[in-house]
Amino acid sequence: MVYKCLFFIPLTTLIHYHQLLVNRPLKGSFSVFSNFLRPNNLSQKMMRVIFVIYLGVACLITGIQFLTEYLKTQDSILTELKQLEEIVIDPVSTNLWQYDYKQLDVLINGLITMPIIEGVDITDKQGNAIVSKRVYDSSSEPISMFETTSDLSWTLNAEVVGLGTMTLYSSSNVIFDRVWFSFALIALTAIIKLSVLFGLFIWAFNRYLALPLKELMSQVDEVQLSRSLSKRISLSDEHDNELSQLQAHMNSMLASMENDRQRLLEDEKAQREWLEQAVTERTAELQLLNEKLKDLAARDSLTGALNRGSFFETAQHLFMLCYRQKSPAAFILMDLDHFKRINDEYGHFIGDQVLLHFTQTIQSLLRKSDLIGRVGGEEFALFLPNAGMDEAFQIADKIRQRIKESLLNIDGQKVTYTVSLGIEAAGPDDHSIDQLFKRADVKLYQAKDKGRDRVEM
Ligand code: GH3
Ligand code: MG
Ligand code: MG
Repeated sequence: MVYKCLFFIPLTTLIHYHQLLVNRPLKGSFSVFSNFLRPNNLSQKMMRVIFVIYLGVACLITGIQFLTEYLKTQDSILTELKQLEEIVIDPVSTNLWQYDYKQLDVLINGLITMPIIEGVDITDKQGNAIVSKRVYDSSSEPISMFETTSDLSWTLNAEVVGLGTMTLYSSSNVIFDRVWFSFALIALTAIIKLSVLFGLFIWAFNRYLALPLKELMSQVDEVQLSRSLSKRISLSDEHDNELSQLQAHMNSMLASMENDRQRLLEDEKAQREWLEQAVTERTAELQLLNEKLKDLAARDSLTGALNRGSFFETAQHLFMLCYRQKSPAAFILMDLDHFKRINDEYGHFIGDQVLLHFTQTIQSLLRKSDLIGRVGGEEFALFLPNAGMDEAFQIADKIRQRIKESLLNIDGQKVTYTVSLGIEAAGPDDHSIDQLFKRADVKLYQAKDKGRDRVEM
């Protein structure tokens, strides 16, 4: 029973320790010991250090207790031996004096059966053995022996005659027989103390260190997994200690990280908005510039009228629109009369001013939807959507008349000029502006042929 306790109490303590700290089911007794030998957390490490130190101290104290008990028992056995010796010394001396060896043998045999005596030696004066008896044989010799020796004597006529010596032996076997129960009790007490203390240690470590640390770690993991810095760590056990201080530090760190991130996000948002605004403004500027460039590329630089290419492209679109809508459309081709002479007479600069004057004059007479283009040096074209032949003639004649009546005063030079015009209206078979242009060109030549300053239709 005692031996069972000696074995089971420390083992169950160790298993309990493992289950509390590791907090997972046992896979086998091997894992208990391997975890104990190679701890992987702080509590286990501390427990191992404390366990080893405490076990060492407990073994030392128990060893001292064992030794004290052993020596005390040895002393008491020696005292008993001496008392026995005092009792038997007289009968032994008498038997020796009387040479009654038979009686001596009976006496010694009686002595040797006593539980504390392991052997008896009787020697004569010269030290020769008279009696030597042992309760053990040579194969079962005890670990240690101790003895008490007394002189044997006989008093004759008031004179003491020495007869020899008597030695009584006892051994460690006798001591162990007496103390085994005390030893077992000491060991059992030590183991119970060790187990109870460790149970308490384990509980305290688990309660105040291992569990709060585990909770702290799982909450930190949660924050990390959720990627939400607005989360805070809140331990269920609120005590003012290092752990609560660590919790407060971590929470303030989280708060400052959240602030930093918020600020970063705001900065990023402001920067993005600024960038978007800048891109929008820049795009608008570029669009405007693009339109200006397009317009510049499409127009004649001197007069501002559409150049030949742009005029025909746009006129073709408008023409197709009128064609699909079955609306009338007219084309007027104009050529300044004897323009070469103006150049020759007044110079090219004045010639340019005349071209500019001509454009501005006809522009003032046109509708918004009418298209004007410079198709040659002093040759201009008009496309009039939704205008029939009569309407076109009226405009053309008005132009001719207005030009004829103009008197230009450029650098003190008085200049007059005329223009000839050919008109062509779109017919049902016309699909291209070129067809109208060609026919209008013929009309223009006719106007030139018929004396210039004319409208031919
Ligand atoms: P017609 O009545 O038969 O049309 O006679 P014209 O002199 O107008 O005809 P011609 O084709 O012989 O001459 C056209 C002149 O226009 C020749 C050219 O020097 C001049 N010219 C063409 N482009 C420009 C220009 O941009 N500026 C100036 N100043 N003269 C130009
Ligand atoms: Mg010409
Ligand atoms: Mg001309």
